[in-house]
Amino acid sequence: MAEVRSSGGTANAAPIPFIDLVAQHKTIEREVMEVVERVFATQSFILGEEVAMLEAETATYCDAHEAIGCASGTDALILALMALGIGPGDEVITSPFTFFATASSIVRVGATPVFADIDPVSFNLDPAAVDAAVTPRTKAIMPVHLFGQVAEMVPLLRTAARYGLAVIEDACQAIGAEYHGRRAGVLGTIGCFSFFPTKNLGGAGDGGIITTDDPDLAKRMRRLRVHGDSGGYTHVEVGLNSRLDALQAAVLRVKLRHLDDWTAARQQNAARYQQQFQRQGLSGYLTAPEILPERRHVFNQYVTRIAGGQRNAVLAALKADQIGAAVYYPIPLHLQQCFSNLGYVTGDLPESERACREVLALPIYSELPAGDQERVIAGLRSALGVDRATTRMKRAA
Ligand SMILES: *Cc1c(COP(=O)(O)O)cnc(C)c1O
Repeated sequence: MAEVRSSGGTANAAPIPFIDLVAQHKTIEREVMEVVERVFATQSFILGEEVAMLEAETATYCDAHEAIGCASGTDALILALMALGIGPGDEVITSPFTFFATASSIVRVGATPVFADIDPVSFNLDPAAVDAAVTPRTKAIMPVHLFGQVAEMVPLLRTAARYGLAVIEDACQAIGAEYHGRRAGVLGTIGCFSFFPTKNLGGAGDGGIITTDDPDLAKRMRRLRVHGDSGGYTHVEVGLNSRLDALQAAVLRVKLRHLDDWTAARQQNAARYQQQFQRQGLSGYLTAPEILPERRHVFNQYVTRIAGGQRNAVLAALKADQIGAAVYYPIPLHLQQCFSNLGYVTGDLPESERACREVLALPIYSELPAGDQERVIAGLRSALGVDRATTRMKRAA
């Protein structure tokens, strides 16, 4: 293992958090507290007018015909699967390199996740691997727009059309992301979003929303989120209790108005990392995320790749310098203990397994001060031994 040390030079500096939600809240505190008081004044806490308004505004934002609020991104995925009638005996093809809920939602409805490997550049589903994984039992493809960049949808939609499959977009990290000028959530049959507080659009607790252009699916998901009640305690099927709170909706409506500014700030931070990696000789030591053609990447996360078995040591060195960094994700889902019954073994999905060993996410949040970003880069230079290598080269010359 290569020598990896902390820079030691930043011991007195304030810690750099991986994400700073307090900093963001300070910029909108008055707007938020005003709507919180408005909701309290009505004492109407579940669904209602605020949720209906958020649904309309989200539908407009994503260019979808309908948006349906629900209790979380996980529930959004479960409601989508239920509305499509997917259950026992059915297979859904998805990525093993994602948050757990992508696959657990499939298991929750009694269906079987079938994992296809990822593309090493985008970290999103490899369309050829998806095509090869289709069987007579396949009912849907669930691409994930990981880290805020839309998956390669054209070939995925072609496969779906050829075999008559539904496409459920796990857009939980990708509200506002675009592909060929169209927003995430309207590229497939149903789009699922999360308002978990750390997402690029986060609430004051759990929340989620579902987009679709299909009025029948929308109607069914609206019913499924309230116990399958078609009105007047008439239950036509068994659904969930998965309603969105009015407080969440009111807060999210405020934040949605700021989302494009926050996205621009994230994109700017990403561009600065990219530029400094090149200028400061880091490009040979790590791989920066690539923005693919015809995309609007919203950088829910900024995920680099560090090869050569050094990732964990770099993470430890940054931690010693009190620089926030994180690993999304350390274990591919096909190797999770709870999915051992599916029969996957190490080596089955090599690109996903390699990504788990190599990825390192850096602070990218909208309010990240430029000085802090410089310290992140200095910490990386030190951890990766860039300065020592340069000194050695100079001495040798
Ligand atoms: C966050 C997330 C989810 C789940 O959303 P929750 O609101 O936490 O339930 C699902 N899929 C992906 C890719 C996510 O990032």
